[in-house]
Amino acid sequence: MTDVVIIGGGPGGYEAALVARQLGGRVTLVERRGLGGSAVLTDVVPSKTLIAAAEVMTKIRTAEEVGLHLTDDTRRLGAAVSVDLGQVHARIRELARAQSADITERLRADGVRIISGSGRLDGPQRVIAQTADGDEELPADIVLVATGAHPRELDTARPDGERIFTWAQIYDLEEVPKHLIVVGSGVTGAEFASAYTALGVTVTLVSSRHQVLPGQDDDAARVIQHVFENSGMTVLNGARALGAERRGDEVVVRLADGAEVVGSHCLMAVGAIPNTTHIGLEEAGVRLSASGHIEVDRVSRTSARGVYAAGDCTGVNALASVAAMQGRIAMWHSLGDSVAPLDLRTVCANVFTAPEIATVGCSQADIDTGVVRGLTMMLPLRSNARAKMQALTDGFVKIFCLPTTGIVVGGVVVAPSASELIHPLSLAVRNKLTVDQLAETFTVYPSLSGSLAEAARRLHGHSAEQVITY
Ligand SMILES: Cc1cc2nc3c(=O)[nH]c(=O)nc-3n(C[C@H](O)[C@H](O)[C@H](O)COP(=O)(O)OP(=O)(O)OC[C@H]3O[C@@H](n4cnc5c(N)ncnc54)[C@H](O)[C@@H]3O)c2cc1C
Repeated sequence: MTDVVIIGGGPGGYEAALVARQLGGRVTLVERRGLGGSAVLTDVVPSKTLIAAAEVMTKIRTAEEVGLHLTDDTRRLGAAVSVDLGQVHARIRELARAQSADITERLRADGVRIISGSGRLDGPQRVIAQTADGDEELPADIVLVATGAHPRELDTARPDGERIFTWAQIYDLEEVPKHLIVVGSGVTGAEFASAYTALGVTVTLVSSRHQVLPGQDDDAARVIQHVFENSGMTVLNGARALGAERRGDEVVVRLADGAEVVGSHCLMAVGAIPNTTHIGLEEAGVRLSASGHIEVDRVSRTSARGVYAAGDCTGVNALASVAAMQGRIAMWHSLGDSVAPLDLRTVCANVFTAPEIATVGCSQADIDTGVVRGLTMMLPLRSNARAKMQALTDGFVKIFCLPTTGIVVGGVVVAPSASELIHPLSLAVRNKLTVDQLAETFTVYPSLSGSLAEAARRLHGHSAEQVITY
């Protein structure tokens, strides 16, 4: 039997463990905190559960636009509903705990040995698990390192878990903050700013760029910037935060231009650092990049024979879905199953703001810079009948296809349910479908997905010279 030892029980690690068992490996997984990893305990599951509460609140606020009012009450619906943040956060913690327990049970049922403790490599073929009962040596034919990452902290803005938080600590808050300052307008900062604003919190978002969500589709980020500003959120663009400190019951964020932002609480969302130090990687021959990430190829191999790596510790694409795929690929490859290398051109991702931004395949920037020679078609949602019925005003669909063949190579959806609507485009990109095939496929009338078929229809027969953007 092949001995497989996995360090880290997030999506990169636990999905790999399941595949390794399926392929007949003897699998031991070492996890120091809880199964499901940061994805389940502090990152994906908690933030999306918070956002689920925010979505309900957003729906309540828009109810009046479609003609719904409170019975025997003259107050506006939005004003009549308030959030019990303690309860919302308690539900989040409970859901994360239950999800972690489910994963633990599933792994045990599949025959994975789980060790609670810290793992480190002792050469490429042995892992030492440091547990409460002492060290255990685990011989390994194959090692998978899936240790994830942790929130980056600034020396000048040390999170204390009371007034200054990382995203992992914020769910300890029992009361609605008077004024939450969110530092960082990347995906994490934008998602939290969006959710807490929807829940009625006064939010200031400190963004070092000219627009929120740098690195996302520019048109999509512009929509979100506009929605944020109209929701009552204060967005400080071009404002670089130097530090945050407590002054009594207040938090003061100092900006590079000398200005100060004063709030009651502060959430620092300034990136993540890979968990790759002091676990014997370089000593075992595993090469790290300058940023401290583990270098891997498209089948998750590191520079050390028999040692694979998956997930955020590799810096390939910090998504749970990519971590899980890298982990599975590592097992398929190392245990001799058929395997296709990781193809980042087909990755689907979503920003859970309101509205959401979902993307797949190549980007507008790839087309604008000539990396991909393609055509763009963008349709605003406000022209869609279903969107009008639902009082949706902000959002669009965008499709990128190759000239001549019309093969779909990417797309963007900005809509409340973009994470669901992107799937037909994802199918098209993965299976190299053409815009004509997409256009000929029935969609329900009326539906938001009708706009995807309409955008595809408008790309019919266009040559490379006729790039059209509406
Ligand atoms: C706020 C937030 C929201 C996000 N939302 C989404 C989303 O909606 N969708 C999405 O796809 N991605 C999302 N992500 C990204 C996603 O969380 C990560 O990509 C994912 O967690 C990576 O999985 P992983 O297995 O690499 O690492 P992790 O989930 O971080 O798991 C690594 C595990 O390894 C353990 N570990 C570390 N070192 C050791 C050691 N030496 N010994 C034993 N155990 C160790 C850790 O305790 C941890 O449990 C979000 C990230 C953040 C910060």
